Amino acid sequence: MALSGIQIYKLLPQTNCKDCDFPTCLAFAMKLAAKQVELSLCPHVSDEAMAQLSEAAAPPVRPFALSSNGHEVKAGNEVVLYRHEKTFYSRPGLFLRVYDSESPAEIKAKVTPADAYKVDYVGMNLEISGFVIQSNGGSFVGAVKAVREVSSRPLILIGRPEALEAGLAVLAEGEKPMIGHANQENWQAMAELAKKRNAALAVSADTIDEMVDLTGKITEAGAKDLVLAPTQRGFHGALTANTVARRMALKSNFRPLGFPIISFPGDVSDPATEIMLAAQAIGKYSGFIVLDHFSPETIYPLLVLRENIYTDPQKPIQVQPGVYEINNPSPESPVLVTTNFSITYFSVANEVESAGLPAWLLVTEAEGMSVLTAWAAGKFDAERIAKDVKRFEVGDKVSAKRIVLPGHTAVLSGELEEELPDWNVLVGPREAVDIPAYMKQAL
Ligand code: SF4
Repeated sequence: MALSGIQIYKLLPQTNCKDCDFPTCLAFAMKLAAKQVELSLCPHVSDEAMAQLSEAAAPPVRPFALSSNGHEVKAGNEVVLYRHEKTFYSRPGLFLRVYDSESPAEIKAKVTPADAYKVDYVGMNLEISGFVIQSNGGSFVGAVKAVREVSSRPLILIGRPEALEAGLAVLAEGEKPMIGHANQENWQAMAELAKKRNAALAVSADTIDEMVDLTGKITEAGAKDLVLAPTQRGFHGALTANTVARRMALKSNFRPLGFPIISFPGDVSDPATEIMLAAQAIGKYSGFIVLDHFSPETIYPLLVLRENIYTDPQKPIQVQPGVYEINNPSPESPVLVTTNFSITYFSVANEVESAGLPAWLLVTEAEGMSVLTAWAAGKFDAERIAKDVKRFEVGDKVSAKRIVLPGHTAVLSGELEEELPDWNVLVGPREAVDIPAYMKQAL
């Protein structure tokens, strides 16, 4: 059970020594109860209190990561049911499934393009997370080897314990894969295998009661990084199973369901329905999503949807302030100014770059806000722009000294002329899409 702030306070030393950077033990206890700080910040907790508090402070959804060769897929660690309450932390991994009944050549033909798929999306790389190899009467070891020949991404292996043991032997020692599924018949053997290979273990059950029974037994047997694999598949069944599990984990701190969830939209035969089920799984609590079909036009919207839901709404996506070169600018090229909100930066940079026009792009520090928002908040003004012109030594890069303000902030031009008396201050268009025409005509 979760402890209240007062219950936690009673277990703390109550000396108010401030070593945790909080003014009182009570203030620290309140933050700990809200799961906003780590218990390790207090160095004075007794061993007995530590045992009780560690249990209370443990994240309600167990965090861990699948990993291999520098790739990592984090899961768990969520603390809210709805993103607007705080944020979601662990983007669900999108995995493509192959079967060992397919030939090695077929497997490689499926895995290779998915592994190579990469899209630069406002400074982030969107890509597939890994692959699932499922036993289906063929050579399981051969299938694992075929995938490993063309991809180094994390793997999920599904089959009987004997097949899994042989498949796991193909993987490098430091890899952390997932194996599945543990059920009422095989859970002891699967738990042993998961412990032996430090693998996450997917647990399959038809009902919540059965799931609770299984995760309890498996945790007691020593396998800790579990993944809930409910057997429900349609829109209603999958949504209900995921929501009940996550709600009980977060609202009641119910440990037997406090694990990431894996979903199998690929189990439906129709690719269009598969994508819709995957979208539902991204929104409603899946940590791992298994697809049977891959194409750029279906994976792209899923990856963008995932970013939209898992980007922290309190932290704007930012680019580093500085001077960016577009199309090899010369000392004669103009200096365009914008803010460090990623979407603003990429809108301007993409328009100028695709028009083939050389320019210097000065990205100012505006706490990740767009031009108008930053201007309204007092984070994008003449003084700040002039300061960044000097900080990034923009004057040393150009001889023409023409600086172009975004059209929405034309009102700053007078003040900027005062701040930068040896510069020619110009006012550009309001929209990024109009910048190339403006540059051709006015610069
Ligand atoms: S470090 Fe521990 S004992 Fe000191 S104020 Fe913080 S919670 Fe209290």
